[in-house]
Amino acid sequence: MIRIAHISDLHFSKFSLSPAQFFSKQWLGNMNLLFNRSKQYLNERPFSLVPEFKEKGITHVIISGDLTTTSSHQEYKIAKHFVEVLEKEGMKVFVIPGNHDHYTKKSDRTKRFYRTFPSPKNSEFLLSQHGVCSIALTSGWHLVLMDTALATTLVSSNGYFSPVVEENFKKLIEKIPPKENVLLVNHFPFFDHDTPRRRLIRGNQLLRLVESCPHIQMYLHGHTHRHTIADLRPNKLPLILNSGSTGHQNGSWNQMDLEGNSLKLTVNRWKDGWKETDVQTFLFESKPWYHNGLRFKCTGCGKCCTGSGFVWLEKEDIKHITKHLELTEDEFYKKYTRQLGFDISLIEDPVTTDCVFLEDKKFCKIYASRPQQCRTFPWWKGNLENPQAWKDAKARCEGIDHKEAPLISLPDIEKHLED
Ligand code: SF4
Ligand code: SF4
Repeated sequence: MIRIAHISDLHFSKFSLSPAQFFSKQWLGNMNLLFNRSKQYLNERPFSLVPEFKEKGITHVIISGDLTTTSSHQEYKIAKHFVEVLEKEGMKVFVIPGNHDHYTKKSDRTKRFYRTFPSPKNSEFLLSQHGVCSIALTSGWHLVLMDTALATTLVSSNGYFSPVVEENFKKLIEKIPPKENVLLVNHFPFFDHDTPRRRLIRGNQLLRLVESCPHIQMYLHGHTHRHTIADLRPNKLPLILNSGSTGHQNGSWNQMDLEGNSLKLTVNRWKDGWKETDVQTFLFESKPWYHNGLRFKCTGCGKCCTGSGFVWLEKEDIKHITKHLELTEDEFYKKYTRQLGFDISLIEDPVTTDCVFLEDKKFCKIYASRPQQCRTFPWWKGNLENPQAWKDAKARCEGIDHKEAPLISLPDIEKHLED
């Protein structure tokens, strides 16, 4: 079991008197800090979590962005110190940037965030370069970190799920075995924020991608400062968790006990000290990658019966075919089969190498009693192992994704698999 603390929007701050701030958006952040945020956010609040985490046995800490307020050097220094203190206590800390961490164009251009918090190295994708990276978290679970933050104009705090990050995300997700569960962390929610200038641009594209990847079981984010638990699994979306703003005077954070397919979520809020206010348990069943159904219609092209290959026969198949051909089993074995180890397969036409029962390259002479292997194609475990295996099957069978093919639902696919 691992015990994760999800915290977000710490907003460490340091008021700046530097005249250089007037050449960037930083002066706006400083004004906001002076008249507003400094009363609501306390630098010492996140540090009060350190003994708390130690006592609770937290093993991993996920920080989903906005560690700073105006991304100044001084604020990054405090944020770095905080992370170092956690690491010194033996916790693994994973950090992604929020819009406040790329607050000014200069901090974004000079990659101040990544110079302070280098990307995790155990992945061929680097968060700083590809906008995504993945880490094997614990048995059966992968952590995927995403960076959609960018420096924006004076009045905007939008994020951007760029086409480049989208492509990289697709490639990265394909490399994670479909049986592994994914916990995706992004600063921004993918649903539209009430205020257009605080939204994730192209959030809909991210939503659709997440929807198409059933092994993304959880989506952790921050940004809105609203603590959220939204179990959208009945709508084919993940369990969505927003820890709320942990640095706020009425802040919150989530403790996540992850073991196998179960999550125990404990909500903690500041009420004159950190108090546990809610506990919920969630179970995750792994859904196959084709849970939304697959398109298939046999055109009768006969291609799957052509060329060299093996049509394996079960006892039931032999019973049906011999009855159909009015042959004894011995006659059938001699005329139409070959023994390969302990298994029996149909023979091939010696000239064409097609199946011995294929006629005119199209018709099966024993169609009504054809073997189970033929009846269940393309719903073979090997073809459904992952999207690539299905794509490979499509290259051999024109009925897969045919323009007239109906959508075969998951229960129907499962029925075929059981056949
Ligand atoms: S290759 Fe596909 S479409 Fe063609 S006969 Fe076989 S199953 Fe049907
Ligand atoms: S038995 Fe019929 S369906 Fe099966 S491979 Fe031979 S020709 Fe095709």
